[in-house]
Amino acid sequence: MSLLELKNIETYYGKIQALKNISLTVNRGEIVTLIGSNGAGKSTTLKSVSGQVKLGAGSILFNGKDITKLPAHDTTLLGIAHVPEGRRIFPRMTVKENLMVGAFGVKNKKQVQEQLERVFSYFPKLKERLDQKGGTMSGGEQQMLAIGRALMMKPDLLMLDEPSMGLAPIIVEQIFEIIKELNNEGMTILLVEQNAYQALQIAHRGYVIQTGEIILQGPGEELLHNNQIREAYLA
Ligand code: ATP
Repeated sequence: MSLLELKNIETYYGKIQALKNISLTVNRGEIVTLIGSNGAGKSTTLKSVSGQVKLGAGSILFNGKDITKLPAHDTTLLGIAHVPEGRRIFPRMTVKENLMVGAFGVKNKKQVQEQLERVFSYFPKLKERLDQKGGTMSGGEQQMLAIGRALMMKPDLLMLDEPSMGLAPIIVEQIFEIIKELNNEGMTILLVEQNAYQALQIAHRGYVIQTGEIILQGPGEELLHNNQIREAYLA
């Protein structure tokens, strides 16, 4: 059984159809990437899973449970973390406060402390900056904080929407290294990226979305060497 399964989903913004018959699976322990150009429907796919937009048709299963109609709050409590495009940390709150927001579903103090330590092991910089306001940090640090905040809830599935966006190449390298490391330690990841080259290098499998439809899918390695993809996305 897949951890996440999208079955023929369709999503509309008013009369505009953003997703057409999207089917996709993420198995436990995988990094699956969804690549495609601007406006292809990548963010809408993640929002459909986390319950930020309603489906016009189709269904979504998480751990075998039907979550098609669940609102965002409930998908979070079930273990789906969604790090949105543009990071959206709370700029006027400190690093510590931002992280604690992520821990809202964790009742036990000891567990919160354990999660904090775990987040610091991935992002030592956050520990040094605990009292700094989120908005005063660099783009890369804010991305790390956004991922750290998502990890605080100990999710079963981590969905990342363009974590490399707007970051310097060396920081992008670091972020992708951390994504790989998280996965090596068991985290299942659904990664949306325009940066197809780097995403396919770390992904077990990938899907290519174009104007709301999946046009290609396969192992990351295979897609990396696919001519159609090389021309369209890796140029
Ligand atoms: P990007 O990288 O630019 O976010 P994307 O692949 O994530 O691209 P989506 O943001 O999912 O694409 O958008 C898919 C389509 O839906 C686009 O045509 C977009 O213009 C449209 N769309 C997205 N959000 C809305 C909205 N709130 N209202 C109307 N149309 C929208």
